[in-house]
Amino acid sequence: MSYVVSEGDKPSLPIEGSEDRYPVRRIYCVGRNYRAHAIEMGADPDRDPPFFFMKPADAIVQNGATIPYPAQTANLHYEIELVVAIGTGGKDIAEADSLEHVWGYGVGIDLTRRDIQNKAKEMGRPWDMGKGFDNSAPCTALRPVSDVGHPAEGTIWLKVNGRMQQESTIDLHIWSVPETISYLSGLVELAPGDLIYMGTPEGVGPVVAGDVMTGHIDGVADLEITIS
Ligand code: MN
Repeated sequence: MSYVVSEGDKPSLPIEGSEDRYPVRRIYCVGRNYRAHAIEMGADPDRDPPFFFMKPADAIVQNGATIPYPAQTANLHYEIELVVAIGTGGKDIAEADSLEHVWGYGVGIDLTRRDIQNKAKEMGRPWDMGKGFDNSAPCTALRPVSDVGHPAEGTIWLKVNGRMQQESTIDLHIWSVPETISYLSGLVELAPGDLIYMGTPEGVGPVVAGDVMTGHIDGVADLEITIS
């Protein structure tokens, strides 16, 4: 058997301190997982249950990369997020068992064409073109649980050109990592290679060509992405 068109390269992420790589299957993102960010987006954090959207696996961008300012937007936003890498799959995973399914963690940015997303919201249309565009999912090298544990507190921040724009802590997730894995696995069967972007704190805003975004989560990793 051979494919009739090029199959392309399998998207993957490096592993910190290793030559091995983590193959990316799917990228799930949690929407509005911080109270202050939900409020800044005009939503009610007390009423809304968690919801998810996706990015294509090949939207992954490696740490240190320079990416072009994307097409068809004049309002490209950063969203710094904890990234969970699934190691073993499953469906209807109990909250108490969910951390056993995690391979490791990284730090990512959920890049968003906010103008396209806002238009989609207004018209009741899907978010795909606002969220799932080319190069929309920068992520650091992953660190295994054996190295990083299960980070549940600590600072998360993002700076643009060295100036602090987002600063919070990961214990403020509305839905914790175990709750999120359990809930998501009731919607879809999770599998090795699935990443979950855990949602961003308040302070989202635009970047333009020439900007450098640096991101950090205590004990997890540091990320740097340049827009050209
Ligand atoms: Mn996000």
